[in-house]
Order: sequence, then C-alpha cells, then structure tokens
Amino acid sequence: MRILIVEDEALLQGQLADALRAAGYAVDTASNGVDAHHLGDSGSYDAVVLDLGLPQLDGISVLKKWRAAGRAMPVLILTARDGWHEKVAGIDAGADDYLTKPFHMEELLARLRALIRRAGGHASAELVCGPLTLDTRNSRASVDGQALTLTSHEYRVLAYLMHHRDQVISRSDLVEHIYAQDFDRDSNTVEVFIGRLRKKLPPGLIQTVRGLGYRLTASG
Ligand code: CA
Repeated sequence: MRILIVEDEALLQGQLADALRAAGYAVDTASNGVDAHHLGDSGSYDAVVLDLGLPQLDGISVLKKWRAAGRAMPVLILTARDGWHEKVAGIDAGADDYLTKPFHMEELLARLRALIRRAGGHASAELVCGPLTLDTRNSRASVDGQALTLTSHEYRVLAYLMHHRDQVISRSDLVEHIYAQDFDRDSNTVEVFIGRLRKKLPPGLIQTVRGLGYRLTASG
C-alpha cells in the first residue's frame, strides 16, 4: 500500500515517513500544497495524511480539488490543537478522519489501517484468504498459523493483493501501489516478487489471469 504524507514541518514529516515505512508502506512526501495536489492527483495512493496549514495552497483547498476531480482515496487530516472549525471544514471538504496535533504515532497508524481496510470493504484488521492470514496491525503474514518471512516488497505485494482479494490486479496497478515515486521501477520485478511469494504460499492462492494480471483467491 502506498501513502502520501503532506506536512511542511520537516521534523514531523520525517517522523511520519519513518513510522509508515517501518509499518510496511511505500511512502511519498510533499511539503507544500501545490506539490501535494499534483502527487495526489495521480490516483495511486491508498491513503493520504494531509496537514491543513501548508505553504502555497492550504490543505482544505488541496482536498477540495482532489474530490472535485473524483479522487476518492481515504484522507486523514492533521489539525491544530484549537482547530475545531478546521475539522468541520475538512470533513465537509471530503476528509475521512482527523487527528489533532500533537498526536501519538500509534494512533495515526491505527486510524490509517482502519481507513485503508474500510476503503477495501474489510471490517477486521486481520485479512484472511483460505489458510493465509495478514495481520495489518503488525504487518505479519502467516499460513495455518505459521509466520511467513517476507521482504518489504514481497509484503507490499501480498498486502495489496490481500486488500483486493478475489479481484484481478494488473502488474501496473501493483507497480503503482508498492513503490514510492522516486523508486527506480521495473514492472518485471513484480513478476519476480510474485514468483517468490508463490514459493512461500500454498499452491494456487495467487492465480495468473492471462493478459490481465493476478488474483489472490482461496476459491480454486
Ligand atoms: Ca503546517
């Protein structure tokens, strides 16, 4: 899953990026509203953390532009301590949740997990597909209770497929959602990750749909 962090305070932006990367996400960052709008308009983010007080273009305006353009990704806004009116304006502009600064990183991570799973129609923090379980709270996958050892990219591929189980996901979709913007992308590596995952998973869980992509499913 790929997250956009929009925060102009360098220290906080760095802390957010570190925490989200450690939790298994691909992370892009923006420090002003114009860059944020441009990045978010690409449609490749599974969630956005959006500070409202930003240089060049404020967060509410950025959010309104995304929503007007049909960008529906979950957005968590960060508001100032006494900013109740900001929360109202943000939610009315299309925000899905908010946190007041200062906040605990664990709470931000939990709220993001909830937004991402709800966007995929999942009610539980544990995603299940047959014998395979992915616990989004600790970024661990297991088969029949046995923990899998995955690299960060293998985890991202598996997490994206688990959030979209039973759907056909194209290679280009996977590339868009497992790599950060500045990463040297090569769609052939997706095949390599899929091949490695298949060796670690029970046979048949990841199907190849010829010409279209991959589907994670427990139903044969
Ligand atoms: Ca700010």
